[in-house]
Amino acid sequence: MTAFLDALRARLGDAGLLVGGDLAAYEQDWRKRYAGRALAVARPASTDEVAAVLKLCHDHRVPVVPQGGNTGLVGGSTPDDSGRQLVLSLSRMKRLRGVDVANASLTAEAGCVLADVQAAARAAGLLFPLSLAAEGSCTLGGNLATNAGGTQVLRYGNARDLCLGLEVVTASGEVWHGLSGLRKDNTGYDLRDLFIGSEGTLGVITAATMKLYPVPKERLTALAACASLDDAVALLGLAREHAGDALTGFEVMNGASLALVARQLPQLHQPLPPVAWTVLLELSDAESATHAHGAFEGLLEAAMARGCVQDAAIAQNLQQAKAFWHLRESIPLAQAQAGLNIKHDIALPVSAISGFVAEMDATLAAYLPGIHIIDFGHLGDGNLHYNVQAPATVPPAEFLAAHEGPINAMVYDAVGRRGGSISAEHGIGRLKREELAARKDPTGLALMRAIKKALDPRGLMNPDRLV
Ligand code: FAD
Repeated sequence: MTAFLDALRARLGDAGLLVGGDLAAYEQDWRKRYAGRALAVARPASTDEVAAVLKLCHDHRVPVVPQGGNTGLVGGSTPDDSGRQLVLSLSRMKRLRGVDVANASLTAEAGCVLADVQAAARAAGLLFPLSLAAEGSCTLGGNLATNAGGTQVLRYGNARDLCLGLEVVTASGEVWHGLSGLRKDNTGYDLRDLFIGSEGTLGVITAATMKLYPVPKERLTALAACASLDDAVALLGLAREHAGDALTGFEVMNGASLALVARQLPQLHQPLPPVAWTVLLELSDAESATHAHGAFEGLLEAAMARGCVQDAAIAQNLQQAKAFWHLRESIPLAQAQAGLNIKHDIALPVSAISGFVAEMDATLAAYLPGIHIIDFGHLGDGNLHYNVQAPATVPPAEFLAAHEGPINAMVYDAVGRRGGSISAEHGIGRLKREELAARKDPTGLALMRAIKKALDPRGLMNPDRLV
């Protein structure tokens, strides 16, 4: 390994290679579920340097773990404990390569933090709509590698829908120059879509061209109290009817989620009294503020008349709107503070969600009395974070060791029976690799393995993740 590390240092310089010392920030995942040991951390500053690193890894047969902001939730971005895997951090590749206002697109390097990409679009008078609670740390490359979703998918789609072109370094160190601002390009297999969502197992994304949108003229945000999940689903139907495309966010939080936030983060004001389900909804309109206001008023009137909303709080200014979103986005942090838990990032047809939750809540309460179900998510997209925490009397680590397998089986079986997915937006990583192998359509799985073999014949790109 000395020859390999010497060659890396010669190419990247001291700033580009960390060996020894405290590498914990690169070796432990955000949830503190996976702690590994890296051979070293390479921090290339350009696409050419990424290509040189991957060529050396290919020649010396060194496995590589690409890493962006290390906010991933499925254990895909940190090394295993062999001490043989090289972490390839994109943290020095932060250049905004350009904004094309007329084409409504932006090109940025993979290590750009998502919040900085949003700010660059804003500075050009446009909107980059991808938005998630980790946006102050996660990177554009990580967002694409995991096909991130977030809070605006309902209106703008996920990372895949927002991407026009990619620049990628292959496992053997070649550069694929696929950056393009084209919205139409039927020239064969869609390589861009192959790398999006591939979780670092096929190559390293070094830059991307992304779509931009007009900045909404008006944004209206409200919290609504619903007595049941059926009521929340009825409200979603009304919101679609009244607002159409102006509906940009529709999130739900169960009572236990907000009670957990109240316990862990008591400084956050909760405008509504405790209730079974709270909906956070957002309408925005790029064309006219009057249209958004009209739709909002019509929606609230219809919801009250239908009886699917008991109470509502409407944000009176931007600061209040941000506080409402902050409440929703603080749930993962409150969960992390409360200790290890079992996460299920699932997708279901919206019509099946309420039945799933009723069945699962009852099943799990009978399986382990006192269990906490922290259930929240992007109801508008059929995406729930159906997370399970230990009863107060059971230490979280013990709970995980004894119950993770059986609980996953119960939840994923119920998801499968309803035609859902075991990963809506977080990906597979290490956490769900076995579940994927057991549950994915066998032909689909075989095709995925064939693609992996063709693009990474030596099996060096993020090994043992995804496939
Ligand atoms: P990392 O964690 O560094 O990496 C994630 C995966 O991508 C790994 O497999 C890694 O190897 C690979 N990878 C990273 N960069 C590259 C690259 N340049 N080329 C190739 N592969 C690469 N996700 C959502 O979808 N929606 C949410 O609402 C959401 N909310 C979150 C809230 C919190 C508080 C946290 C902590 C996470 C949340 N996430 C959410 C998960 C996470 O933020 C996203 O998956 C994010 O897209 C990961 O970006 P990252 O830069 O941190 O990637």
